[in-house]
Order: sequence, then C-alpha cells, then structure tokens
Amino acid sequence: MSRTRINHVLQTSEPGSIVNVRGWVRTRRDSKQGFSFVELYDGSCFSGLQIVVDANVPGYEHIKEVTTGASLSVTGEVKASQGAKQRVELLAQKLELLGKADAETYPLQKKQHSFEFLREIAHLRPRTNTFGAIARVRNAASAAIHEFFQERGFNYVQTPIITTSDCEGAGQMFSVTTMDLHKLAKSGGEVDFNQDFFGKHASLTVSGQLEAEIFACSVGDCYTFGPTFRAENSNTTRHLAEFWMVEPEMPFYDLDDNMALAEAFIKHVVGRIMERRADDMQFFNERIDTTVIATLRNILDHEFIRLSYTEAIEILEKSGQKWEYPIAWGGDLQSEHERFLTEQHFKQPVILFNYPRTLKPFYMRCNEDGKTVRAMDVLVPRVGEIIGGSQREERLDVLELRMKECGLNPADYWWYVDLRRYGTVPHAGFGLGFERLIQLVTGMVNIRDCIPFHRVPKSADF
Ligand code: ATP
Ligand code: MN
Repeated sequence: MSRTRINHVLQTSEPGSIVNVRGWVRTRRDSKQGFSFVELYDGSCFSGLQIVVDANVPGYEHIKEVTTGASLSVTGEVKASQGAKQRVELLAQKLELLGKADAETYPLQKKQHSFEFLREIAHLRPRTNTFGAIARVRNAASAAIHEFFQERGFNYVQTPIITTSDCEGAGQMFSVTTMDLHKLAKSGGEVDFNQDFFGKHASLTVSGQLEAEIFACSVGDCYTFGPTFRAENSNTTRHLAEFWMVEPEMPFYDLDDNMALAEAFIKHVVGRIMERRADDMQFFNERIDTTVIATLRNILDHEFIRLSYTEAIEILEKSGQKWEYPIAWGGDLQSEHERFLTEQHFKQPVILFNYPRTLKPFYMRCNEDGKTVRAMDVLVPRVGEIIGGSQREERLDVLELRMKECGLNPADYWWYVDLRRYGTVPHAGFGLGFERLIQLVTGMVNIRDCIPFHRVPKSADF
C-alpha cells in the first residue's frame, strides 16, 4: 500500500478510508485497558497524527520499542476524532517497527532543549517542532521567491560560486586553492598563484551581482538565488559565513523603481508564507515570539517609509537615545540605529537611501551632490538591514573614477566596465539575505538557527 503523508490524512482523508502512514514517533502513551496512543510525525505539517493501537493489532508485540524517535509504518482506518484538537485520528490495523531508537541515548527527549544544545545535534534537530517548522517555512519562502520573479518574467540566472573578483571590495573572502598549504609555491616572497589551479588567486563569491548585471543587460530582468560566503569574523546573531542571497537586477530601473520592487517582493513572500504555513506561523507566534504575526501583518498593511540617509541621521541625532556607537553624518549606521528607526521611531519597515559615497561600493550611482550615492537599505523590525541595493553607475567615466577611488584597477574588471562601453543603460538591483528573511518571519533570535547547517567562526560541522 502506498504511503499517504500525514498532512493529507489530517486535512482530507475521509473517515472510513484505509491509509498507510510512515514517520517517526513523537510520543507513546499506554493505557491500562491494553492499548496505546502513538503520535507519529512525518514532517509534512506541524502536527503529528494520533494513532490508536489495540493490543490485538499485528506488530503490537513490539510496542515497548515504539519509543520517541523510532520509525514506524502504520496501516489503519481513518476515524473522526473525539478530541477537539484534530479532525481525524487513525485506528491501527497493522504496525511495523522500521527502526528502533534507543531510549537511553536518543538525545531528543520530551523536555525543551536549548537552541545552543540543538546546534550541536543539527542532524536531529529538524525532528523538533521548531526546526521542522523552520524547514517548511524556508521551503515556502524559496517557492514564493521564485514565484514572485517568475510571475514578472524575470530570468533565474546561476552565477558562479568561485570567483576571481571581489564584488564588495571588502576583502572578507575565503580563498579557493589546490596548492599544498604546507609547501606554498612562492615567487620572490609572494605566493605564486600562477601555479594555482586557476592561475590566479580565487575565492568563494560574496555576491552574484556583477555577473547578474551582465544578464540584466542582455536578457533583461533577472535574479540569482544562491549561496554566498563572507569571512567576517563577527560573532553576531545576524551574520553567517555562508548564507543564501536573492539578487534581482533590472535594466531601465532607477532607484525609485528598485525600492518599489523590494517592497512588493517582501510583501509577496511574507504574505505567501502566512497563507501557506499558517500552522507553523501559529507555533512561532505562540512559542518563539508572541509579536511575530502582528509584525508581519503590519508589514503587509502599510507602505514602507522612505527616508534619505541624511534625514535618518537627523532623526537619530534628535532622538535623545544613548548610543553605543556615536552618530555623525558620514558614519555607518549600526544595528542599534537601524533598529531604533524601524522598531521605535517609525514602527514599520523603512527604506533608507542616498548614503554617503564613502560608505558604499564602487558600483553605486553617484548623485549630483558629489557626496552621496543611490544606495538603498531596507530595514525591518528585530533584524535591521534585510536588503541592500542601489541604482548602478552606468556612466563609463564616473565608474572608472569610482573604481580608482576605491583602490580597484578597472582593468581587473574589464568585462564589467565593458557593459558601460557597449550599450550602457540605467539599471538597478538589490540583495536580500535569505536567512535574515527567515529570522524576520519566524521570530528566531539567532540567524544560526535559520539555516539547516550554519557556518560561523570555529564551526562548520555537519
Ligand atoms: P551588514 O551591514 O548587516 O553586515 P552588508 O551591508 O554587509 O550587511 P550587503 O553587502 O548589503 O550586506 O548584502 C546584502 C544583504 O545580504 C544584506 O542586506 C543582508 O540581508 C545579507 N547579509 C549580508 N551579510 C550577511 C551575513 N554575513 N550573513 C547573513 N546575511 C547577510
Ligand atoms: Mn548592505
């Protein structure tokens, strides 16, 4: 008999029908009357299925081994449930123990485990309520992201993971090499990358933007959705060394168009997750952060505030808050400033734009004031910056000047510069950190819990 997933049984199976379900035992309770209740979970939805197993059911002889974490296949009849909790339950006709889980050593006991502990058993944590819900929300978010862009005719472009250019010019890159680190090939005291696999110094990419621009300037609106790597040694709750980024890039867009798309994009994805993962969202709202649904509703129901960097600095200066990092025009906004604006001052998402040139990378379009560039950051409650983007510099001469100002050699980026030489167009794009989106939506405090297997300083297990 083919397997039916538990979400299907709970939602649509008719009482009286016979189904086979398979999954892992959450709990077992034995009654004095000689039958047992088993809650079986298969990951298809938040709930497990309640199964009633009578002592005369074939397989009942193994019931003592049906412990938390064991895997089962159960065939039985769907029954209308007596309790108010679920529509139906299963009356077992046959039970097959597929894999035992030693109750002495199985690490996931019924009690609540700390997220720190669960990170150490990342191979088992997806079986918990919280991490099962996160996995389903991540999936729903990925689907909604593709859907948003596909509906609008964007092309999904796969950009390289290994690169020889540093997009942000920040130098927080992981090297990729086949050289023997114990006997490095040197020439005149320097490492001789001529002898390396690619014949030059290669790294893991920090962004697919530059390559996405190539496709935007040839096949039109496009987006990437892939892993990016940053060797930032910051042990924060918002940074990973490996994270997924969504980077749309649009020809003929200016900064206003870019902001409008970013807002529509966040609203679309948040809305779809709330619709399609209502069960998981209810759990997050009850057990992780009791304000999370209200925060998301607020995001859906209001227009994002748009504010220049300069105006933001004025607000922060006048706020009367005590800052850990002092505020001054020209300085980078820290998480405390971003969160003040979006959580306390405006109490909704804020898009900041026109940042000082000195804070931003070479590819952002220079404004006429000579001081600012057409950058935009989208700030949301609890997370702070979730999106960073800009209108790109399309003028060849200005771009080359900016590269030099940032200490880059235009010749190293000849292919990027060529886009301005041959048929240049105004264009814009942004990058959304996928795990920050998951933080926003789930209410989870630490970004390490928002990715299946986190990579951070001193940790790359599993
Ligand atoms: P931050 O200032 O928060 O470190 P950033 O300005 O360096 O971020 P961008 O280069 O603008 O980040 O990258 C675009 C988006 O990618 C950010 O808005 C954020 O959502 C996400 N992001 C950046 N760095 C990380 C990281 N280390 N871990 C997870 N997400 C990240
Ligand atoms: Mn940024």
